[in-house]
This record gives sequence, C-alpha cells and structure tokens, in this order.
Amino acid sequence: MKHIDEYRDAKIARALLAALERKVTRPWVLMEICGGQTHTLMRYGIDTLIPSQIELVHGPGCPVCVTPLEVVEKAIQIASQPDVIFVSYGDMLRVPGSATDLLRVKASGGDVRIAYSPMEAVKIARANPQRRVVFFGIGFETTAPANAMAVMQAKREGLRNFSMLVSHVLVPPAIRLLLESPANRVQGFIAPGHVCTVMGYWEYEALSRQYRVPIVVGGFEPVDLIEAIGMLVAQLEEGRAEAENQYVRSVTLVGNRVAQKVLLEVFEVTDRKWRGIGAIPQSGFRLRPEFAEYDAEKIFGLADTVVEEPAECISAQVLQGLKKPVDCPAFGVRCTPENPLGAPMVSSEGACAAYYQYRRDTVKSS
Ligand code: SF4
Repeated sequence: MKHIDEYRDAKIARALLAALERKVTRPWVLMEICGGQTHTLMRYGIDTLIPSQIELVHGPGCPVCVTPLEVVEKAIQIASQPDVIFVSYGDMLRVPGSATDLLRVKASGGDVRIAYSPMEAVKIARANPQRRVVFFGIGFETTAPANAMAVMQAKREGLRNFSMLVSHVLVPPAIRLLLESPANRVQGFIAPGHVCTVMGYWEYEALSRQYRVPIVVGGFEPVDLIEAIGMLVAQLEEGRAEAENQYVRSVTLVGNRVAQKVLLEVFEVTDRKWRGIGAIPQSGFRLRPEFAEYDAEKIFGLADTVVEEPAECISAQVLQGLKKPVDCPAFGVRCTPENPLGAPMVSSEGACAAYYQYRRDTVKSS
C-alpha cells in the first residue's frame, strides 16, 4: 500500500498544486478522457483546487456511457429469452433501454447474472451445456484482451453454447472526432492510463503531432492527475504539443504486446456507433469472421434496430465535453442514480454519477 499512498499524499499534492499555480498565466481547457479519472477529480475536489484559469471538461471514456442504446436493446432481447443465461458486468444492468433494463428483465424471471470477468461466463457455459450463455462484451481497449481470451477459451474447449455480444470501442478515433469538431474547446487531453497500459501511447504521439495538441497519459490517483494537469499546462504555456507519459509505473510507449496479440487474433477494427455521438469510423472492435460462431448478434439474428435516445438527456454533449452534468435540466431532478434517464448517471465511471455523488449542490453553470 505504501506505493499507492505516495499517489494520495496531501503534501505531494499541495507541492504540485503550488507549482501549477506558478506555471499558469492564461485560461486553458483540458479534458480527462477516462470516467475513472473524472471520479478521482471530483472525489478529491481537484477541480476546485487547481488554478481558476484551468477548466476541466469530461470526456467519452466511460464504457457503459458510450454503449449505444441499440446494443442495450439487443442485450435486453437476448436476456429475455427463456433458454439464455445472460452474463454482464454489474454496471450495465441498470442502463435504461427504451422501455426496460436488464435488472427489470432479471426481476421478471430472466436469468441475468453479474460477473467480474468474461471467464466466469465461460465457466457458466461449461456447467450449463443445455443453456445458451451470452456475455455482454463491452468496453475500451482495456477489457478487450480478457474478452478475446474468453472467446479463444470457448473455441479451444469446443463450447457451442457460449457467445458474446460485442460492443468494444477505441479511444484514439474518439479523440480525433473531438478535435475535428467545430465546437471543440479542448486544448489538452489526459489520456486514459488503463487503455494505454494495454495499447501503449504511440498512437497519441501521431494525434499530438497532427492536431498540435498536448496529450499526457495519466493515472488515476489524485497525485497522478495533478501531475498530468501540470505537464499539460507546462506544454501549453511553452507552446509545445507532444504526447507524454505521467503514468510511467504502468504504461510504456508500445504497451502490452502479448495482450495486443491476443485481442487482434480475435477482434478486428470496425466502424462503431457511440451513444449520443453517432458512428465513428474505425472506432471499435468486432469478432473476426473465424470467430463468427461466437457472435451473439449473428446467433440471435438481431437486426439493427434504431432506437431514439430520450430527448431530455444531454449525455451526447456531456460525453464530448461541451456541457457539464449540472447543465442538464434533468440532473438531480428527473435524473438520479435511483431513476436514471441516461447511462452517465448509472455507471460508476459516468460523469453525471460523479457530479451527483460529489457536486450535487453545485450551482448550475449557465
Ligand atoms: S443528468 Fe441524466 S439526463 Fe442529464 S445528461 Fe446526465 S444522464 Fe442524461
């Protein structure tokens, strides 16, 4: 624990904040990509401790939040079938579909189970050969290797009753989309440490160069994030635009090559729709054709359904850093963790959930 304690040390944090205060001379808008980073920033009040010239906006890095409504609807359709055991990470159960959610499907008799790893779903499939077992494979590059291993394991064992509903998304294409938007205000990004642990940060070097934007790979503890903000501000104040790595205890330039090899054996890059944002070219993974027999969308013949998101929910703007959760008229009134209108209020990494938990009394900003 000593190692982690250093990254929560108030004395170190205060020294970094004082250095930041000395460094900053003008207003800057920075975005943390990852929802886990958003929660740390809110939980420790870092957004209130940094110099007032620095505005933090929150990015699309909450996997539950960006899973499109259509995919949630498909999950609900599959989970409602009597011979199915539907296995998912817990956060997905309360994400609202158009009429219901997975938790309600479970309450009305559906066999919906929570797992912490896709291998648990493989185990369930092995133990229940007469049932169809479907794992909800969502997330960023971080969870993709474990999901790939589960599919490989099922194939190795010849398990024909296991499949995966895949909705994987990739961070760099989302950053590119944000940077190309005419509405973009973000001048520097904190890249997600967990994603970069798997993938490295070489792709962010190319983005930095092409768009002349500083990107710093950041960790998840308070000292990590204050240091990452300081590194971004130093670049901006000095007129530099580079990809740098604050999270050196976990991330290397090239990432985890073994994990990358596994995930690319099972998945291939494809266009993906992101909730509230729409389709982003080459922004996700799908199963390769040689693993088609494990593709739940194919097995269950789910046609593409177009589902409207609730008009009241401004999660599209929240996920692109254009609005803060407190700017949403429904925040804390018609939308709460108990009665969520959108995924960012449900997920443990959602920006709306973070504001509800730590900033509920914030005066609306506009
Ligand atoms: S507060 Fe609720 S309705 Fe508003 S953006 Fe967040 S999830 Fe959507």
